[in-house]
Amino acid sequence: MTFKGWKLTKDDDAFSCALGDLEESEMMDGDVTVDVQYSTINYKDGLAMTNKGPVVRRWPMVPGIDFAGPVSDSSHPEFKAGDMVVLNGWGVGETHWGGLAQKARVKGDWLVPLPDTFTPAQAMTIGTAGYTAMLCVMKLQDHGVTPDSGDVLVTGAAGGVGSVAVSILATLGYRVLAATGREADADYLKDLGAADIIPRAELSEKGRPLGKERWAGAVDAVGSHTLANVLASTKYGGTVAACGLAQGADLPTYVMPFILRGVTLAGVDSVMCPKPTRMEAWKKLGECLPLDKLEAITSTVGLADAERVAQDIMNGKVRGRVVVDING
Ligand code: NDP
Repeated sequence: MTFKGWKLTKDDDAFSCALGDLEESEMMDGDVTVDVQYSTINYKDGLAMTNKGPVVRRWPMVPGIDFAGPVSDSSHPEFKAGDMVVLNGWGVGETHWGGLAQKARVKGDWLVPLPDTFTPAQAMTIGTAGYTAMLCVMKLQDHGVTPDSGDVLVTGAAGGVGSVAVSILATLGYRVLAATGREADADYLKDLGAADIIPRAELSEKGRPLGKERWAGAVDAVGSHTLANVLASTKYGGTVAACGLAQGADLPTYVMPFILRGVTLAGVDSVMCPKPTRMEAWKKLGECLPLDKLEAITSTVGLADAERVAQDIMNGKVRGRVVVDING
């Protein structure tokens, strides 16, 4: 039995990324098999499919860090054939065959039942980017950042994580500042709920240990000097949820925001996030994400287009979300 999927291989440093027929007998171990209907192209998938970052740690690999669809076969007590499920992370697309294929076999413990509020296509419109955005918002809430605390900043705002974070925060009543390099796209971000736009360049160069207090909280998808500058301008007692490294993995910061303003730097990891927190994030997404706005910033491509989109995301050409219709 074969099924269509992308396969990444590396032999003696020769990398290849090809769409073809995969054998069911080649699939990795797992107690649930899913007929994948939709996946997405995340930044990490871009790194993996273009071989620009060390995402894949086992070869050959099927890329795709998230997917949604019905269970076709299960020996896991919580799932039976026909159940709709969603998967984010757990090393899928990195160490375990992923979602850019018609079938995926994984551990049932990694799966979340798809909330009734979403179709599989909508779940992937949200994708790992949106679920991570929700984890970041939850982190700000856990640390007491409320709409009354002051403005909140989102960096990398026109990207996948950033767009959804802007939309969720605005829906929850926060006044959102959106930092972007695509100032021409200000209307796009304002439609999502941003109150004001901050040019990316204002934050991306080496800055001072402390700046004017400008925001009570921030969701940072960018890292490097941007995150350092975000910390330096966070208000007394504020929190910054850090989830990304689009500018760089370094963090050239000072201790002043922490020791003089009591600022919290809160890390967000979606990959190994415990199941109860995932379930809560998906439930909250069902409650406070305006899907119509998200769908308006989503494009859908067929499986064959995945590699082209992976290159686009690495070249900063993708705005919003891209869903992959696996059978399209
Ligand atoms: P996207 O590529 O969709 O968005 C990244 C955005 O970052 C871009 O749209 C751009 O925003 C901004 N950006 C890109 N390059 C630079 C740069 N050199 N300097 C400053 N800003 C830049 O990616 P995602 O939204 O999917 O992911 C964002 C980050 O979050 C990635 O680093 C990803 O690896 C990480 N991530 C982490 C997760 C976790 O579990 N911690 C889960 C998911 C993602 P704009 O166009 O507005 O300027």
